[in-house]
Amino acid sequence: MLGGSVLWFRHGLRLHDNPALHRALEDKNQPFFPVFIFDGETAGGIREGESPDGTKVVGYNRMRYLLEALEDLDNQFKKHGGRLLMIKGKPDIIFRRLWEEFGIRKICFEQDCEPVWRPRDDAVKAVCREVGMACCEFVSHTLWEPDTVIRVNGGIPPLTYQMFLHTVSTIGDPPRPVADVDLRSVNFGVLPERFYSEFTVFNKVPKPEDLGVCPEEADMRMIRWVGGETTALRQMQQRLSVEYATFCRGSYMPTHGSPDLLGPPISLSPALRFGCLSVRKFYWALQDLFNQVHQGRIPATQLVTGQLIWREYFYTMSVNNPNYGQMAGNPICLDIPWKNPEGDELKRWKEGRTGFPFIDAAMRQLRSEGWLHHALRNTVASFLTRGTLWLSWEHGLEHFLKYLLDADWSVCAGNWMWVSSSAFEALLDSSECACPVLLGRRLEPSGEYVRRYVPELARMPDNYIYEPWKAPIEVQERAKCIIGRDYPAPVVDHVEASQRNRNALKELRRILEKAPPHCCPSSEDEIRQFMWLGDDAQSDISSY
Ligand code: FAD
Ligand code: MG
Repeated sequence: MLGGSVLWFRHGLRLHDNPALHRALEDKNQPFFPVFIFDGETAGGIREGESPDGTKVVGYNRMRYLLEALEDLDNQFKKHGGRLLMIKGKPDIIFRRLWEEFGIRKICFEQDCEPVWRPRDDAVKAVCREVGMACCEFVSHTLWEPDTVIRVNGGIPPLTYQMFLHTVSTIGDPPRPVADVDLRSVNFGVLPERFYSEFTVFNKVPKPEDLGVCPEEADMRMIRWVGGETTALRQMQQRLSVEYATFCRGSYMPTHGSPDLLGPPISLSPALRFGCLSVRKFYWALQDLFNQVHQGRIPATQLVTGQLIWREYFYTMSVNNPNYGQMAGNPICLDIPWKNPEGDELKRWKEGRTGFPFIDAAMRQLRSEGWLHHALRNTVASFLTRGTLWLSWEHGLEHFLKYLLDADWSVCAGNWMWVSSSAFEALLDSSECACPVLLGRRLEPSGEYVRRYVPELARMPDNYIYEPWKAPIEVQERAKCIIGRDYPAPVVDHVEASQRNRNALKELRRILEKAPPHCCPSSEDEIRQFMWLGDDAQSDISSY
């Protein structure tokens, strides 16, 4: 038996800051097998009810992003005489076969903390136990290990973001990234011929179409996101120069202040989702940059990296809650009585045909590019749920999980619950509705964003671009866009709908005030009750 070690890539599709890779290469004389398995999981989001083989939902753009990330890894290994081994099948079966062939001693991988990956990982851990392979799992997809956060918080996840911040500050700074590995003189393992007949083994990275994932419409993509570690590291440098300028101006969070809906993408969320970029590398780069700019005169507070901590928070909240992505059986989610979709309203929201140009532009950008600015995600999510259509956030989650490049089950579900007032915010406090007309005008007064993604409206004058149904017929004719023929009339009367919803939320708030405490504490008392804290915990709470 040769022995050897496996690095099992799932997320964490990078060589930098990769503690699992370090462990796998501890003994360079042993053969090393870097493996990616096409098991329908990694790029996926949730299980699609009707999907016969139980694979997870994935749209074309995210699948391509994944494949580009694999190609990047493969190219990096090739420089050192190896390659990424890409096999289609079930991980537990493949690892058992590798053990039979080589007597593999250990399987190393980065922890995926979300419950949606647990069945996959449990099956592999069971094989490891059975045959005596070491199973080495490393925390590097998150800044802190969710289980540690939960333990430090007394056995349950911190229920509010503020409490989360408090808990992690007790734990201390997240670890800095580990050093790069040296791939020279690595003894890359080679798969035996038998494997080629037993499994589908890819000699080069397949195309999405080879895996049965095809583009849905004529390619009208405007901005093309490229997957992979090499691109992600380059993008991080570009992003840091934007942050640098922002820090020099004395603020943080450049994407938040005044959202640029038209500019080139500077988001790293897809790279973080697939682990092409290490979150610890990004976190520390931001902290260090801030300290460098301010020379320690202003402490780098959690605000500098606050958005990354929301990501941690949502991951941690989902760890022990397999129902986090749905309303039923989800203890942190309020049971808001959403209505069932009527007619084709849900379909029109998904396809960007609601008749509200700002919503439609965003929904089309999502399908064609796979990315949306946070402000737009909020707008379309509010429109679907408490703002306008009063449909369950679960519909929105399902759609986002298919199309977003950065779709992350727990981050996406957490945000959907938040925006729809179902969890995480002060009890239904935010009953204001994001008006798709006023908000559009405020965020993007030029109307260029709408014109880019809704070409039917390209000639609509500025003053009607967000409410074209109000344009007189001569204006519609001149714009070559008759409402109801070339572009749909509004799916509902937004003003009426939002008033109705506001009243419904008010009523709900009234009922809930008498109900037992739920997941989103809005007062100290509520926190204490929900957390089962005695009176002596008073000082802990008032410091939030
Ligand atoms: P920045 O503000 O620069 O933040 C840096 C990083 O922090 C992001 O790349 C992301 O990893 C993380 N982050 C930022 N905002 C949030 C947030 N609200 N919650 C959790 N993490 C955050 N983000 C995802 O990564 N995956 C999702 O599936 C996802 N689904 C969403 C669904 C809805 C309905 C909404 C309203 C938001 C969702 N977000 C999701 C959060 C957010 O919109 C994106 O992370 C953000 O737009 C990425 O842009 P950025 O990198 O410029 O963000
Ligand atoms: Mg519930």
